[in-house]
Amino acid sequence: MINDNVVRQQILEIKPYVPGKPIEEVKRELGLDEVIKLASNENPLGPAPQAIEQMKKTAEQVNIYPDGNVHYLRQKLATKLGVKEEELIFGNGSDELLALLGQTFITEQAEVIMAGTTFSEYRFATNIMGGKIVTVPLKEYTHDLEAMAAAITPNTKLIFICNPNNPTGTIVTKDEVDNFLNQVPDDVIVIFDEAYYEYVANPAYPETVDYLADYENIIILRTFSKAYALAGLRIGYGIASQKLIDYIERVRQPFNVNLMAQKAAIASLATEDHLAKSVELNQVGKEYLYQEFDKLGLEYVPTGSNFILVDVAEDSTRVFEELMQRGVIIRDMSAFGYQTKIRVTVGLPEENEFFIEQLKEVLNN
Ligand SMILES: *Cc1c(COP(=O)(O)O)cnc(C)c1O
Repeated sequence: MINDNVVRQQILEIKPYVPGKPIEEVKRELGLDEVIKLASNENPLGPAPQAIEQMKKTAEQVNIYPDGNVHYLRQKLATKLGVKEEELIFGNGSDELLALLGQTFITEQAEVIMAGTTFSEYRFATNIMGGKIVTVPLKEYTHDLEAMAAAITPNTKLIFICNPNNPTGTIVTKDEVDNFLNQVPDDVIVIFDEAYYEYVANPAYPETVDYLADYENIIILRTFSKAYALAGLRIGYGIASQKLIDYIERVRQPFNVNLMAQKAAIASLATEDHLAKSVELNQVGKEYLYQEFDKLGLEYVPTGSNFILVDVAEDSTRVFEELMQRGVIIRDMSAFGYQTKIRVTVGLPEENEFFIEQLKEVLNN
């Protein structure tokens, strides 16, 4: 008989990931023609034209397996970052790398420290391996690195720091990280998830690659999904000491990063103007949204990223559902314990305006 006894105990701990609803699904279900999605922190400009050109060319070559070593992208990225090629690992999105980190380092009952409100995949990576999640509440929506350091025990294996933090958009500063790393034992691994690295404008934000010279126990994760606009292709990377990379490589599947993703990522790296345009568009959109939230008297958390956590001062699930009825998909934050907050991705100017118009109507009802 099929019941919970047929699966590993750890599987029962795992809650399915709830993604942002796809546009097509909302159109179909609600019979809407116009739907905008500001729910998954995607780049509204789309991929760089050069990347699209590469994808078209690559379509004719997908009968061939991709380069399992990601040779050309590795070269380009190592040069750009000033690290050794052996200090990089590529994943099918940084999501895959998070899972690989779990498989590499987390033993049964090992303690994994993370913020109380942060990216849900850290939980997944820990639960699937039977590790023990230790959460440390955010302080003013920000990682409390002092408290996280204090939570370290002899059983601690990994510490996740999401910087900027999803879903609050806050950053931890270089001073805070310096202080924190000094308190972390050599054999505890600290993961900096920097999915929104390219968007951060705050000069106090740490350049974590610089820590690699002094720390063998840190891993930096970045992605081509957000500012580089390749979320649909799935490609992210990790930067760490060669020793750590060698361990993680053992659990990686040989062809985990597809051919089109590799080619498009190379082209995207070569077109910094598209990145600059994306970052600028985000900056302008962010300022516009702040201004409108101010006018509406809504509190929000200033963001270092391309999304904003905003307090709509009423039931966020109702606001989420009513916005969806009107063709705007955002994130309801009630599952994160924020009963009156939503998370909205900064979109194109017309999308931001449409969102604000609809939000006004929903809040007036
Ligand atoms: C979006 C996101 C990721 C996942 O990125 P992929 O490379 O698309 O898998 C990882 N971490 C955080 C914090 C994110 O917001």
